[in-house]
Amino acid sequence: MKHKKFGSNGPDVSVIGQGTWYIDQGHRKSAVAALQRGIDLGMTHIDTAEMYGDAELVIAEALAGRRDEVFLVSKVLPSNASRRGTITACERSLKRLKTDRLDCYLLHWRGSYPLGETVAAFEELVGAGKIRSWGVSNFDVDDLDEMLAAAGKGKIACNQVLYHLRERAIEHAVIPWCAKHDVAVVAYSPFGHDDFPSPRSKPGEVLQGIANAHGASARQVTLAFLAREACVFPIPKASTPEHAADNAAAGQLMLSASDIAELDKAFPRGPKPRGLPML
Ligand code: NAP
Repeated sequence: MKHKKFGSNGPDVSVIGQGTWYIDQGHRKSAVAALQRGIDLGMTHIDTAEMYGDAELVIAEALAGRRDEVFLVSKVLPSNASRRGTITACERSLKRLKTDRLDCYLLHWRGSYPLGETVAAFEELVGAGKIRSWGVSNFDVDDLDEMLAAAGKGKIACNQVLYHLRERAIEHAVIPWCAKHDVAVVAYSPFGHDDFPSPRSKPGEVLQGIANAHGASARQVTLAFLAREACVFPIPKASTPEHAADNAAAGQLMLSASDIAELDKAFPRGPKPRGLPML
């Protein structure tokens, strides 16, 4: 598994991470085994949120005795992101995750609390050693500008945003903004959540052709394509060890310039939408 620097002050983090939305909805044993297999294979960036039901409990089970191996991220809901609410939400997550600190803590999306309040809470949590860094999610460039003004340089570790082959809107302005300001881009729903391109579709055929040429899977090619920029870290969710192993192998896959050009043509970026797409 390759690692890349996460934001301006962060550690090196695995290029491919593990999402956990809905991981609590299937077989618990399989979900725990999937996360553990993923960690064994180097996918040590684990993403969760207070919003994801019992996902934090599943993660706690998977991390028993191996907390130090992972870069653990959770998120506060905007409705809890007041000065005090952020602190208590973080403490609840730490309890559910059975840990004493998060490596990064994110504002899930922008809500009605002033950004300065949430930032003050994040900084208090950093001071108390409960989080190592903080970031945002679903922030467009104007929100990022505001957050930068509220927090100052070098504080926003990452922006977690929707990014998959058929949704490349962040390439227009969000990725360039983040690259310029040394903010990691965490690509969520890299397989389109539940809408992965069928090999029977024209673009899906191109994707499968490239995968076949590399002896890889279409999902591995997808992850390698999304991670082609130095600041981008995809976080696929897998609830079986087999899927986790398939995804982890993308960490070794190198696409050629012509593979990337073919994918770019088959899954065009499209025009810049008015608002940032999100799930
Ligand atoms: P996703 O990762 O795009 O896709 C998950 C789907 O792909 C599941 O049905 C999974 O099946 C399947 N899958 C995974 N690996 C596979 C493989 N190798 N072969 C075949 N199928 C495979 O969807 P997502 O869960 O929406 O996004 C990933 C993570 O991003 C989330 O879990 C969450 O942590 C984060 N996220 C964040 C936000 C936000 O607002 N910040 C929003 C959405 C998501 P199985 O479950 O059966 O393995």
